[in-house]
Amino acid sequence: MFLEPHFKGQRSGWIEVICGSMFSGKTEELIRRLKRAKIANQRVEIFKPKIDTRYDERKVVSHDENYILATPIAHSSELMNLTDGVSVVGVDEAQFFDEDLTEVVQNLALNGKRIIVAGLDMDFKGRPFGPIPQVLAVAEYITKVHAICSHCGNLATHSYRLSANADTVVLGEKDKYEPRCRTCFAMGNILDFNQKMKEELK
Ligand code: ZN
Repeated sequence: MFLEPHFKGQRSGWIEVICGSMFSGKTEELIRRLKRAKIANQRVEIFKPKIDTRYDERKVVSHDENYILATPIAHSSELMNLTDGVSVVGVDEAQFFDEDLTEVVQNLALNGKRIIVAGLDMDFKGRPFGPIPQVLAVAEYITKVHAICSHCGNLATHSYRLSANADTVVLGEKDKYEPRCRTCFAMGNILDFNQKMKEELK
């Protein structure tokens, strides 16, 4: 379990990343960290990209209804103006933010803030997702959380898409995605490919 670093002397800012597949508990872990900071009377704010409209506009909701209020923003640069006097900044669904996020979170950390970035590390094709790889590179602390593969029970690292929509930004729940380990993810893709070929030959 992640424990906050202990600083001797003056407190400085830093970046944490919580990443993993869908259904791996990223948001729950983000909320756990933020709630503890709140209890310690630290000013906490959460932001999420405007694109994520699955749930209530102002909530970061995890799948177990354990929620915390969040502000939707259109561009990562808005973080600079909205975090005056805030000591802990949470960023949820960070994979949907623009590439400037990396620079923005570094500026905030330089200003002495603790930044906690949560997001999908890979898209449904298994490719690094949005600004997450860049933020991982500059972060002090990285936590990869994993789901359980719905086929074999091993640790799941990938988000397998059950629907055929080719658009990367499909926000959804269990009817559209399932967590899979690397092997079951690859097997699914091969079977899908074979199925597609069969249909085309008909
Ligand atoms: Zn598996």
